Amino acid sequence: QIDEAKAAASVENLRSPICCILGHVDTGKTKLLDKIRQTNVQEGEAGGITQQIGATYFPMDAIKQKTAVVNKDGKMEFKVPGLLVIDTPGHESFTNLRSRGSSLCNIAILVVDIMHGLEPQTIESLNLLRDRKTPFIVALNKIDRLYDWKAIPNNGFQDSLAKQKKSVQNEFKDRLEKTIVAFQENGLNAALFYENKNVGKYVSFVPTSAHTGEGIPDMLKLLVTLTQQRMAGKLMYLSELESTVLEVKVIEGLGTTIDVILSNGVLREGDRIVMCGLNGPISTNIRALLTPQPLKELRIKSQYVHHKEVKAALGVKIAANDLEHAIAGSRLLVVGPDDDEEDLEMEVMSDLEQLFSKVSKS
Ligand code: GDP
Repeated sequence: QIDEAKAAASVENLRSPICCILGHVDTGKTKLLDKIRQTNVQEGEAGGITQQIGATYFPMDAIKQKTAVVNKDGKMEFKVPGLLVIDTPGHESFTNLRSRGSSLCNIAILVVDIMHGLEPQTIESLNLLRDRKTPFIVALNKIDRLYDWKAIPNNGFQDSLAKQKKSVQNEFKDRLEKTIVAFQENGLNAALFYENKNVGKYVSFVPTSAHTGEGIPDMLKLLVTLTQQRMAGKLMYLSELESTVLEVKVIEGLGTTIDVILSNGVLREGDRIVMCGLNGPISTNIRALLTPQPLKELRIKSQYVHHKEVKAALGVKIAANDLEHAIAGSRLLVVGPDDDEEDLEMEVMSDLEQLFSKVSKS
């Protein structure tokens, strides 16, 4: 019984995984994000989906609704509290999300246009994901462009495919196989998600359409199962802070602010924080912790909601003095009662070289 209670406690304590979207330009990364944010709930409620700073939070309830069509037997398990999806697709946000050389992105979606297959930036993304050892799935997007595709909006992929004409099924198979071969030529084994018997060895391809929503339930299901299977250990709450500066932005009335992804731990108003700056380390105090005003609260004048405290995983805007020279991609540390501020300053500055090699490469 004690063991059971323990297990329950740790499972309850899983934090939300952070998900990034990468891929070649025009493959549909932005459209896919828009589509998964869209709600298909009758009452028009967003199911608790919340817009954050630089990210969208999908609570498990919303994911349950969105995956219902491919979970008819009810066997899918939901252990993580939700999914935090980074809103800016592409290399930049993926490379900025790091801590000590490892990635804060727990899982990624690599988007490939089924009509184009492997493209130059697909290979770049592949290399990034491999370097950082980030688990990922491939969304083989734009299946609605297969000649004569008959769309069944927001349907599971397998059912949609089964209802297509033979010629459409053949074109699909043909394009899928070509892309799988192209991936193999780049050193990566891949398989269609429902034919993948070894997710540790083969990357799963999930066919999607950001226009019709087909395959998106499968994609979400795959993300959730994969994170739960492969990384429960990494998703425990840590008291230690893991946090990174995604963007540095000037906001009217607030001055220079930083948009931060907090992937583990807690941030509080007033905390003393340390990060990497162009002219040396920056140490300052959090003046305000801000998230966007929920859509339904538009009558409220202020654009932001203030928080005394925020808990991982989430995207948050920090207002503070002296942020003008903060560097995107920098780690953010909190000076605790037993910490020596100078030690932490040295620690964050040790990332500087890496941050610049990234800047000059991109
Ligand atoms: P990104 O550059 O990867 O973010 O690509 P976008 O999301 O901006 O999409 C590029 C273009 O492809 C836009 O014109 C989209 O409308 C179109 N597109 C994206 N996804 C799909 C899809 O699933 N089907 C079709 N037919 N077009 C798509």
